[in-house]
Amino acid sequence: MLTVVYCITRQHDLRLVALSAVICALGCFVTASLMSQARLRMRALLFAAVVFGSSVWALHFVAMLAFLPSADSAYDLSLTAASIGVAIAGSLAAFALWRRHANNPIALAGAGLMLGSAIAAMHYLGVAAMQASALVFLDPTFVGASILLSIVFSIVALARACDLRSFARRAEVTLWLAAAICGLHFTGMTAVTLAPSDLAEGAGDVIGTSTLALVVGFVSLSILITGLITLLVQQHLSLRAVHDLARMRLLGDLAHEVLFIHRAGIVLEVNSAGARLIGRPIEALIGCKVVDLFAVHDTPALIRRMACRSEDLQSQEFEARTAAGSLVPVELSCRSIEYGGKPAVAVSLRDLTERKRDEARIRHLALHDALTELPNRYLLGQRLTKALDAAAQGTGGVAVIYIDLDRFKLVNDLHGHAAGDSLLVRASQRMLAELQPVDTLARIGGDEFVAVLADAPTPDLVSEIAARLVATMAQPFQIEGRQVEVGASAGVAMYPTDGRTTEALMRAADTALYRVKDEGRGAVRFFEPAMDAQLQARRQMEHELSLAIERGELHLFYQPIVNGGTGEIETFEALIRWRHPERGLISPAEFIPLAERSDLIVQIGAWVIDAACAAAVGWPQAWRVSVNVSPIQLRQSDVPGAVAATLVRHELDPARLVVEITESVFIQDEAAAVVVLTKLRELGVRVALDDFGSGYSSLSYLQRFKFDKIKIDQTFVRRLGEHTDTLTIVRAIVNLGHNLGMQVTVEGVETAEQLAILRGLGCNQMQGYLFGRPAPVPMASEEDQLHIRSMFDAPLIRAVA
Ligand code: C2E
Ligand code: MG
Ligand code: MG
Repeated sequence: MLTVVYCITRQHDLRLVALSAVICALGCFVTASLMSQARLRMRALLFAAVVFGSSVWALHFVAMLAFLPSADSAYDLSLTAASIGVAIAGSLAAFALWRRHANNPIALAGAGLMLGSAIAAMHYLGVAAMQASALVFLDPTFVGASILLSIVFSIVALARACDLRSFARRAEVTLWLAAAICGLHFTGMTAVTLAPSDLAEGAGDVIGTSTLALVVGFVSLSILITGLITLLVQQHLSLRAVHDLARMRLLGDLAHEVLFIHRAGIVLEVNSAGARLIGRPIEALIGCKVVDLFAVHDTPALIRRMACRSEDLQSQEFEARTAAGSLVPVELSCRSIEYGGKPAVAVSLRDLTERKRDEARIRHLALHDALTELPNRYLLGQRLTKALDAAAQGTGGVAVIYIDLDRFKLVNDLHGHAAGDSLLVRASQRMLAELQPVDTLARIGGDEFVAVLADAPTPDLVSEIAARLVATMAQPFQIEGRQVEVGASAGVAMYPTDGRTTEALMRAADTALYRVKDEGRGAVRFFEPAMDAQLQARRQMEHELSLAIERGELHLFYQPIVNGGTGEIETFEALIRWRHPERGLISPAEFIPLAERSDLIVQIGAWVIDAACAAAVGWPQAWRVSVNVSPIQLRQSDVPGAVAATLVRHELDPARLVVEITESVFIQDEAAAVVVLTKLRELGVRVALDDFGSGYSSLSYLQRFKFDKIKIDQTFVRRLGEHTDTLTIVRAIVNLGHNLGMQVTVEGVETAEQLAILRGLGCNQMQGYLFGRPAPVPMASEEDQLHIRSMFDAPLIRAVA
C-alpha cells in the first residue's frame, strides 16, 4: 500500500494525476448514467462501453504522461491502438452479460471478471507499448494485486448497478468503476521498473509523448463533451420521462389489476399490484421474460399470443406463477402501446381467485343441500339415471327409498327452526351410517330424503335397509340439551318391476310413502299397483283445475319488491291462488306442479300474463309487474308471442313487465331456452332468474344469457342469522351477480335483523313479509310506503362473515 502511495506521489506529476482522475471520474459517471438506460436501450449499452473503454484508455495515458520516469518515452502505435480496442470490446461484452443476467449472481461475477480483465488487458498492453523506448520490468506480486483489485471493484460496481434510478446510486457506481480503473493503474504502475533504451532498430511505427498528449487530449475532450451532452440530454429526457413514468406508475399502482408493459417478451414496467401478485420486488421483475411469470404449461399459448396483433386478441385465462411457486388463475388482456418511443404491449391481469372460489362454492351449492351437504334433487336425478342405465345393461337392480320424517313440523314449531335444522343434519348423518358408500342419500325437500341403492339389491335386503333407516329415526335425538323424538316413514320402489325411468320410480316410491302415511306412519311399504288409486285422486284434482279458469276460481295476489337502498316500492310480483269451492284457498306450491304434469300450465300461464298486465295498466303508479313463468310453459308454448300480443292488447309499456323463470329451464335444452329468453328480451321485457341457488344446473348458462336480475332463494335468508356459512354464500352470490352485471334481489325477508344484514351486502332489491304479504290488490297506500321507507332510515351496518 505504502509502495503504491509512494509511486503516485513521488513518481508522478500530481497535476496530471489530478487531471486523469477528473477524466476518469467523469467518464465513469457518464458510463453509469448510460448503464441506467441500458436496460431499455441496446444503443445506450454500446455507448456506455465506448465511453468506459475510452475512459480507461485516457486515464492510462494521461497518467503515463504524469509518470516521471517515462517523460521521454515513445509508444508502439499498433499496441496503443489495440489497447483502446480491447478496453471497449471487453467492457461491451461485460455490460452485455450484466444486462442479460442481472439477477444471477454467478453471471454477475462473470461480468465483473470480464470487465476487470478488460481494464487489466488495456493497461498491460499500454505498458507493453512502452517497450518501444524502454525496457520494462514487472513485479509479478503487484501485477497480480492490480488485476485482483480491478476484478473485485468491477464485480462490486456491476452488482450495485442493478438499480441506477437514483443519483446517489449512480454516484456510488461511478466511484466503484473509478476504483477499478485507478486501483489497477496505480498498483500496476508500482509494479513497473523502466530501463531507458534507444529506439530499437526496425521497430514498427511509434508515437511520441507530444503526439500521445494530443491524442489523449482529444479522447479526453471527447469524453468531456460526450459527458456533458449525455448529462444535458438525460436531464431533459429524464425530467419528462420521469414525470410521465411517475404519472404512469401512480395510475398503475392505483389500479387493482396487475399491469405490465413488455417488448418482445421482456418486461419493461410493472405496477405494484404485479409485484404483490408474483411476490417479487418491481426491480426484480423488470427485465424478466414474460413467460417466466406464468405456469410452464401456459408457455406455448403465451408464445402464440405474442405472435399475434394485440388488437385481434380476446382476453384469455392463464395461471400466473408466484415466487413461492403457487399458481394464481388470471384473465389476461393486452393492447399495443408506444413506450419509450417504440412499440410495446401493455398487459393487464385480473386475479380470478375470488371468482373461481365463488363459482366453485356456488357449483357445489347447485348440486348439494346447503344444510346437510347431501346431494340435492338434481344430483339425485343424475345418480339415479346413471344407476338405471347401468341396470338396463344387465348389471343388477336399483331400489329407491323415499323417506319422510314424521312429526318434524312439530319440532320446528315447538323448538324453533334452528333446532329443526340441527335435527335434519343429525338425521342425515344417522341414515348415512346405515348405507354403503355406493348408495346415494339425497335431501329433496324440507324433511324428505331419498336413498338410491344401486348395488343390485334383493327385495329382502332393501326391506331390511329401509327398516333400519326407519328404526334409526325412531331413536330419540339430543338437540340443544333436549330430547327430541321424531320418526320416519318410507316408501320403496324397485327397478324394473315398479318402473323403468327416474320419474316412474320416484313417483312409485312417493305413492308407496303416501300409503304409509295414510296408514299411520313409522313403517315401510313397497309400491303396489293398487296404490295407484291415489293417483286417481290427483287426476280428479287435475280435472277440477282444468275448469278453474272458466269458473273464475284463479286469482292473482300481489307482493311488493322494494329498492334495497331506499325501501321505495319498485315492482309487484303476481302470485297465483286457487279458490277451490270446497277446499278453500290452495297454494301454488300444491297445484302448479300438478298443472305442469298435465300441460294445463300453458293455459294457466297465459291467463296469469294476461291478468297481470291488465291489472298493472290500472295501477296508480308505474310500478313494474313481475310474473312467474314455468319452465314447461316456456318449452311448450310460444311465450314471447303471447307476451307481445298481451302487451299490445293492454297497451302496457314492455319495460314494466318482468318475467321470472327458474334455473330448471336450462336442464333439458339450454340452447333452446337461451333463444326464447333472448326473444323476450328483444321485446323490451326484463328477465329475472328466480330461486337462484335452490338446485339444478351448472352455472354455464349465466355466461350464455345475461339476466337482468337474479333472485336469491328465500331458504338462504331464512338461515342467515343462524349459519355464518350462509352469509358467505349470499355474499358470494351477490358478488357473482354484480360481477356479471346483473341486479340481485333477495326473497323471504321477514325480520328487521335479516334486513340489517342484507342491507350491508348491497342487494339491489328485497322482497318479503317484512315489507308486505301477497294481497289481492297491491298493498301500497301512502302510509304503507312511508312505513317501508322508514325501515331503511337506520344507519347501514357492514356485514362481516
Ligand atoms: P316464488 O316465485 O319464489 O314466489 C315467492 C314465494 O315466496 C311466494 O309464495 C311468496 O308468498 C313467498 N314469500 C314471499 N315473501 C316471503 C317471506 O317473507 N316469507 C315466506 N315464508 N314466504 C315468502 P307462493 O305465493 O306460495 O308461491 C310459491 C311459488 O309458486 C312461487 O315462488 C312460484 O314459483 C310459484 N308461483 C306462484 N305464482 C305462480 C304463477 O303464476 N305461475 C307459475 N308458473 N308459478 C307461480
Ligand atoms: Mg317468483
Ligand atoms: Mg322465488
